[in-house]
Amino acid sequence: MTIGKIIDGKAFAADLRERVAEGVVQFVAAQGRKPGLAVVLVGEDPASAVYVRNKGKMTAAAGMESFEFRRPANIGQDELLELVEELNGDPRVDGILVQLPLPAHIDEQAVISAIDPAKDVDGFHVVNSGKLAVGQDGLVPCTPLGCLMLLKEELGDLSGMEAVVVGRSNIVGKPMAQLLLGENCTVTVAHSRTHDLASVVHRADIVVAAVGRPEMVKGEWIKPGAIVVDVGINRVPSEEEGKSRIVGDVATAEAISHVRAITPVPGGVGPMTIAVLLRNTLVAACMRAGMDTPEGL
Ligand code: NDP
Repeated sequence: MTIGKIIDGKAFAADLRERVAEGVVQFVAAQGRKPGLAVVLVGEDPASAVYVRNKGKMTAAAGMESFEFRRPANIGQDELLELVEELNGDPRVDGILVQLPLPAHIDEQAVISAIDPAKDVDGFHVVNSGKLAVGQDGLVPCTPLGCLMLLKEELGDLSGMEAVVVGRSNIVGKPMAQLLLGENCTVTVAHSRTHDLASVVHRADIVVAAVGRPEMVKGEWIKPGAIVVDVGINRVPSEEEGKSRIVGDVATAEAISHVRAITPVPGGVGPMTIAVLLRNTLVAACMRAGMDTPEGL
């Protein structure tokens, strides 16, 4: 039996981080300073704390300056907005990332809107989502851009392909659809109200699943020869009592027999997200300095 290729997102992300590090060397030579990324963490959520620690380590490993700001969960919204304002004005800071989710008493959208769009390395500001929608250069959300990079690496030209994105969140589904449209795919965005999701998915040459439901996309839904990008990160109980494991939104064991290629969970899209964050920080630094973005990024 032939089986589909497992796309090694970990290896691609390591290669991207290396290319970013080379770009950082060029930036430092031209500007006499390192690009800087400021990460703001509110509260004590252990998963967010791990993400932030990893981001800091990888930022430094890419040769960039990492600034970390930890604030208590009961911080007032005005105080948080003041911090963002300070970072907007800090010349050493090229990228600002406020780790989401924020505590319920803080209006996430207000905080995102306060970030200078030129430093919005998450690409969530309406100025950047607007630029993506009209096809202008801007900062693009990390996870969907990472998915697109993997797809282009596997397929080259995506022009004319039928793509189905399952999920329509502002951080994954919608920007993913815009990116695929920009590559001349015929794009369908499915969501919780979509009728007959199985046959919608079955049309696709490219399936991107960003739902947050363990193995919801069944193998038989996927057209033979399609390429599948699984964004989902779902923690489920493992066979070993008291332990858990991570699975994606796609039933990979069922799909693997007939897909062209599929991203695994873990080790597929996940590692790309941080690598693209570093890429976006370098791109933001170059844009602010009036430099071209280094080739290949
Ligand atoms: P959201 O919860 O914001 O969005 C989920 C989307 O899935 C919604 O559009 C929802 O539809 C849709 N959906 C829910 N149930 C169904 C269903 N039964 N059938 C079809 N569509 C459905 O999630 P995110 O976009 O933030 O994240 C999606 C997944 O990706 C999560 O597992 C998350 O952990 C993971 N993720 C992974 C990242 C990575 O780095 N690898 C980064 C970001 C997210 P509706 O709009 O109608 O409610």
